[in-house]
Amino acid sequence: TPAVLWFRRDLRLADHPALLAASAQGPVLPLFVLDDALWGPAGPSRRAYLASSLAALDASLRQRHTRLSVVHGDPVAAVLAAAREVGASSVHISADYGPYGTRRDAAVEEALGAAGIELVRTGSPYAVAPGRVRNGSGDPYKVFTPFSRAWAEHGWRGPVEAPSGGSWLELPESGTVAVPEVELPDGLSIPEAGERAAHRRWQEFLERLDGYADGRDRPGVEATSRMSTHLRWGEIHPRTMLADLAARHSESARVYRSEIAWREFYADVLHHRPETAREYLRPEYARMDYDEPGAALTAWQEGRTGFPIVDAGMRQLRATGWMHNRVRMIVASFLVKDLHLEWQHGARHFMRWLADGDLASNQHGWQWTAGCGTDAAPYFRVFNPVAQGRKFDPDGGYLRRWIPELADAVQVPDPHEPDADTRDLVGYPPPMVDHKAERAEALARWERIRN
Ligand code: FAD
Repeated sequence: TPAVLWFRRDLRLADHPALLAASAQGPVLPLFVLDDALWGPAGPSRRAYLASSLAALDASLRQRHTRLSVVHGDPVAAVLAAAREVGASSVHISADYGPYGTRRDAAVEEALGAAGIELVRTGSPYAVAPGRVRNGSGDPYKVFTPFSRAWAEHGWRGPVEAPSGGSWLELPESGTVAVPEVELPDGLSIPEAGERAAHRRWQEFLERLDGYADGRDRPGVEATSRMSTHLRWGEIHPRTMLADLAARHSESARVYRSEIAWREFYADVLHHRPETAREYLRPEYARMDYDEPGAALTAWQEGRTGFPIVDAGMRQLRATGWMHNRVRMIVASFLVKDLHLEWQHGARHFMRWLADGDLASNQHGWQWTAGCGTDAAPYFRVFNPVAQGRKFDPDGGYLRRWIPELADAVQVPDPHEPDADTRDLVGYPPPMVDHKAERAEALARWERIRN
C-alpha cells in the first residue's frame, strides 16, 4: 500500500532509514509541510537556506521522475489530508526530539490514528537517539564527559543504503504550493544547500581534517567543517560522517567526533528537560538581577558595541547565517556578563538568524556560556573580548573581514583595541561599556545568588 514520507529535518535521500521503511510499504509520496509555526520566526538567512535545501531535494526527486509535494498549513490537517489523498496506510518520519516537534508529532499521530493510518518513526537526526544513553542506574547523564564515553560505547549502526527502484507518488498540483523562493536582502549570502553540497563539503573537509584540532579556535582561518547547517537540516546524517571518521585515528578525528557528541549530548539534555529551551537549567540563575533589554540589545544585535571581535561576529551572523564557534562564545558572554541581559534574548536573536539554528545546541550553548548550563563554564570566568580577539585572531584578519572600517592596516595598527582618534577617523563606535567595571558588576550580581 502507498506510504507517505514526511520530510522535516531530514532533507536527503541517502542514508535515510525512514525512507527505506516507507518504500518497503509501497509507492512513496515525498511530502513537506510549510508550517507557519516554524517559518514565521525564521529570519531571511534561515528561510533562504531551507527554501534552497527544499529546491535541492526536489531536484533530486525530479531525477527520479517525481517531485517533492509541498503543502502549506497546519501539519495535523495537512499530513492527514495528504495521506488520504494517496490512500496511504502509513506515514513515515525520522523522529523529532525537540519540544515543538514532539508535541506536533503526537498531535499528528492522534489525527492519523483516528483515520486508521499509522505514524511510523524510524531513525532520528542523531547517531544515538536522545534518551538512549543512560548511566548505570538508568538515569540520563548531566555532564558531557561521562555521556560521551557512554555514547561511544553505545555505538550506532552504519549508514543504510538508499532504496533501489521503488515508485513514487505526487499530490495533484492544485493542492500543493511551489517550493518557496526567498530573495536575499543585499549583503546577505548563504552557502549552497542540499544533499550534494553537504557531501561535497564533507569530502573537502576530510582532506583538511588534520588541521582541525589546532585551527578550530581561529575564526580567521577556514579550519572548521561548516557542516552544522547541513546537519541541522539533515542533508547528511552524522552516522555517515562518523563512519568516515572511524577509519582515521588522528587527534583531529578524535576532537571532531567529540564535537558531534556535544550535538548529541545537548539533544539528550533537551529531550529530558524540554523546559530548558526557555528556562534556566540551574534555577538559581533565574534569581540573578538582569537589566532590561533596550538600546544595548540593539547595539549588540547590529554589531555596534565598539568591541571589534563582538561586532565582527554579530556582523558575520547577519551576513551569512553562521558564526564561528569561538566567536559565538565571546558574543554570548558579552551579552550576559558585560550587558547583564538574560541569555534568552541572545538565543532568540541567534535562532532567527542562524541557518544552523538548532534549539538544543543553541539554547544549551547559550546556557553554557551564561554559566547556568550543563558543565557550565564557572560564572566567574568572564571572557575579556579584547584579550580573546588578540589570542584567537592574532593578525586581526577576521576583524578586518567583517569590520571594513577597520580594514585599513595602515590607519588602524591595532584593530583589537583602536584608540579614540582612530575610531573617530574611521567611524567606528567607542566601546559601549567599560569591560573591567562590568566584569566586576557581573561578579557582584553573581555573589548575591551564591547561596
Ligand atoms: P565544527 O567545529 O566543524 O564542528 C562539527 C560539528 O560538531 C558541528 O557542525 C556541530 O554539529 C557539532 N558541534 C560543534 N561544536 C558544538 C557545540 N559546542 N555544541 C553542539 N554541537 C557542536 N551549533 C548548532 O549547530 N546550532 C546552533 O544553533 C548553535 N548555537 C550555538 C550558540 C552558542 C552560544 C554557542 C556557544 C554554540 C552554538 N553552537 C550551535 C555550537 C557551535 O558553535 C556550532 O555547531 C559550530 O560553530 C558550527 O560550525 P562548524 O560546523 O564549522 O563546526
